Amino acid sequence: MLKIQNYLDGALSDAIDNQIIDNFNPSKGVVYGSIPNSNEKDVEKAVKSAEEAFPEWGVLNNEKRFKIMNRIAELIDANRDELAKAESMDQGKPLWLAKNEMIRAAQNMRFFATAAMQYASDSHIMPGHAINYTQRHPLGVVACISPWNLPLYLFTWKIAPALATGNCVIAKPSEITPATAFLFSKLCIEAGLPKGVLNILHGTGPSVGGVLVAHPRVKAISFTGGTNTGRHIASVAAPMFKKLSLELGGKNPNIIFDDADLDKAIATTVNSSFMNQGEICLCGSRIYVHRKVYDQIKQRFVEEVSKLKIGDPLNDQTKVGAIVSKPHFDKILGYIDLAKQEGATILTGGHAVTVNGLESGWYIAPTILEGLGKNSVCNLEEIFGPVVTLTPFDSEEEVLELANSTEYGLAATLWTQNLQRAHRMASKIESGIVWINCWLLRDLRTPFGGMKNSGVGREGGFNAMNFFTEQQNVCVKL
Ligand code: NAD
Repeated sequence: MLKIQNYLDGALSDAIDNQIIDNFNPSKGVVYGSIPNSNEKDVEKAVKSAEEAFPEWGVLNNEKRFKIMNRIAELIDANRDELAKAESMDQGKPLWLAKNEMIRAAQNMRFFATAAMQYASDSHIMPGHAINYTQRHPLGVVACISPWNLPLYLFTWKIAPALATGNCVIAKPSEITPATAFLFSKLCIEAGLPKGVLNILHGTGPSVGGVLVAHPRVKAISFTGGTNTGRHIASVAAPMFKKLSLELGGKNPNIIFDDADLDKAIATTVNSSFMNQGEICLCGSRIYVHRKVYDQIKQRFVEEVSKLKIGDPLNDQTKVGAIVSKPHFDKILGYIDLAKQEGATILTGGHAVTVNGLESGWYIAPTILEGLGKNSVCNLEEIFGPVVTLTPFDSEEEVLELANSTEYGLAATLWTQNLQRAHRMASKIESGIVWINCWLLRDLRTPFGGMKNSGVGREGGFNAMNFFTEQQNVCVKL
């Protein structure tokens, strides 16, 4: 049994009250370990430890911070196989995908450590009168709260800019996927991260995350997760005037015009629909296809999707692994039932799958739904699983209206060879990210985040570093 511990005040420890919760392996549907269920006592100790570390870490020169963060990145690289296996067992994702995500986790640490070396401040000169310069101060103690779908990838994406700009961090991974955050704690100790600079607390959302959000000495909350949780966090943090970055849900349109390179559009759409069992906030879950090519795309897409191998995440051939938890598995199947009631035709999938030797695991066949209107629940709500809807359209105006018809605005994908149309559509689509003839192509310098109910603020590059610092204008009279 895997026993996970907190990383608190520089050492690994159990929750102060010794409470634990079960940790499940979704590929087998069994408990395979325990995690501490921390509470306000652990949070208080973490805040105190972070406050004690801040006076030194906050003013440490960039090069020293860079060396430690870079060392953590090297250790992630060196332990990539172990981390990937732990991620795959904990989350249900195919091992090959987990290996790719570990590369990105190391990149996150390296990218922000390097960015801090180039993070300059502005000056504004009033000729003959004064010079203004901008100081950027670290905030102090900040909280990073992350979800279960891309565990270490998103965890490091938040922690790295916070540490690089001199903050001390209390980080809370999802209680559903705690394994790689625990291994990461060990790597931070090995890399010589000073005690208290980073504290990693495990436990449920309310017992750790909720306490962090409400804690008066935690200055900022960087949160990635569901829209409802984000709404609740905002209601607690806003009256305390905390800095808040919210990366929330998505219901992303994937639009294929008749002039697209159809081979590329179909191949990428298989990935953008079902990678990580569809449990990526950026997955294109509403596919709109121009009527002229609708039948052709439908036939080829269904054919490709039906071939996807569902099974043991640790098997190299597996394309679709296990659903992360039993409640999430039930929720996805519930949406499929609802789609049937709403009159959907199921073109492929639409059911749970039993995998030989892993009969108690939680598997769902990649599912394509057809015939649902824009106001159907399955076209409006985020399912966050291997379920997409397919809908024909006739004109640019019509598909634009369809694309913008949900409360979300995270990402969109457009497939067309027409340059004018691509730019015209991109500027009118209400989403923080638009991919044209590609999907999930990421440059870590770009602003990352959502419009509408998909979030507040942007991560990525200097955006994240600006978030984790307080600007101060100093005006000097000449
Ligand atoms: P969730 O909101 O249930 O949980 C996210 C994190 O918040 C977890 O660590 C959880 O323990 C914690 N939490 C729960 N209740 C809390 C509370 N009251 N106060 C503070 N923290 C609390 O989300 P999830 O189910 O883990 O993740 C799936 C969601 O995340 C999906 O909606 C997905 O779209 C979204 N997501 C968004 C992005 C993005 O970049 N926009 C990326 C990945 C996932």
